[in-house]
Amino acid sequence: MSQIQEGGDGNKKPVKKTPNDFMFGKVIGEGSYSTVYLAKEVETGTEFAIKVLEKRHIMREKKSQYVMREKEVLMKMNHPFIIRLYFTFQDTDRLYFVLNYAERGELLDYLHKLSSFDVPCSQWYAAEIVHALEYMHSLNFIHRDLKPENILLNTDMHILITDFGSAKILNKEEEIKPEEEHHTQRRKNSFVGTAQYVSPEVLTSKQVCSSSDLWALGCIIYQLLSGLPPFRGGHEFQIFQKIQKLEYEFPDGFDPLARDLVEKLLVIEPTQRLGCEELGGMEQLKSHPFFEGIDWEHLSEQKPPELLPYLPATKDNPDELWSRPGFDDKRIVELITNNVSDNLSITEDERNKRLEDQKKNNEYHKFVEDNLILKQGLVDKRKVL
Ligand code: ATP
Repeated sequence: MSQIQEGGDGNKKPVKKTPNDFMFGKVIGEGSYSTVYLAKEVETGTEFAIKVLEKRHIMREKKSQYVMREKEVLMKMNHPFIIRLYFTFQDTDRLYFVLNYAERGELLDYLHKLSSFDVPCSQWYAAEIVHALEYMHSLNFIHRDLKPENILLNTDMHILITDFGSAKILNKEEEIKPEEEHHTQRRKNSFVGTAQYVSPEVLTSKQVCSSSDLWALGCIIYQLLSGLPPFRGGHEFQIFQKIQKLEYEFPDGFDPLARDLVEKLLVIEPTQRLGCEELGGMEQLKSHPFFEGIDWEHLSEQKPPELLPYLPATKDNPDELWSRPGFDDKRIVELITNNVSDNLSITEDERNKRLEDQKKNNEYHKFVEDNLILKQGLVDKRKVL
């Protein structure tokens, strides 16, 4: 994207940026096909996040269409809750996407730290997502991979939705036709999106419509309040089966208004989801009692509520340590999260003892240069790993 800037002669002329217009700082993120750097524009000192994509890697992995899609969609959007693409440029080896810097990182990290959000926070962040979706859908874009990982936060803790590589640009005729792209994808035993948030129509009829984002929204609202997405399983096939059978449960104490909203979004038939055109559009969704008190016109100018957990955090409240009997997914997440922070405050003696034990018994010790392993387990595949 070229920017129109004032030339020295007073005429407007397009100016193409180059890597030399920016100072590149630390790495702030790694994607499967990109590395994201914090950067400063030399001329103005403005901070940006620059996503750098290696052309060779993109070609080898056949991801050119995703990259082009992301660029095309981002270039057309300008909304306070959606990541903004300011410039793109390239050199022989790389493509550069200059984005606004989401200083506070991923919403998912906050969710992991707190286990779950309280009702006012969940209401607020759900409202910001609805606001962004309404805009996106008005331009006929479907995100198709909406999930807490793709929701970043700016300095003021407002959301910035990102990752438009899987987005679909709709025109009205396409919305009702089976989707060519999904045919191909399905034949390869694949699908667009992330298993936990994928809608039933994408799994069964290969159709995608803007309502598929409303399904993902239902999953996210459930997750904000309970800590985990509604459809879970040991492997993707199990998750898909649960989605198609609408097999999920609300944990005890789940806010009743949020429950009513989630139930109206997690509906198998896409035309029956609250917020879809057939049911009166996004205005109907925004009028749901869960959103009572939200000032839709001025969301981006207001300060989001302080992030607080739905259940009191275990460290601050010893009673919570033994909060309830049972061992389920949510508890595992709570325990693992606390276990890591507990490990950070162990005494020197304890540390040495664990290190000795690790040297003798842990087959991964040889990879960690005599450091103590605080947490061990499977991780999502990442480029750097
Ligand atoms: P994948 O390509 O594997 O799906 P991804 O979509 O997360 O990964 P990127 O969009 O390249 O890949 O982002 C990589 C990481 O960089 C993200 O997880 C995020 O934490 C961070 N990141 C991306 N964009 C920004 C931004 N504008 N501001 C701050 N951090 C960002």
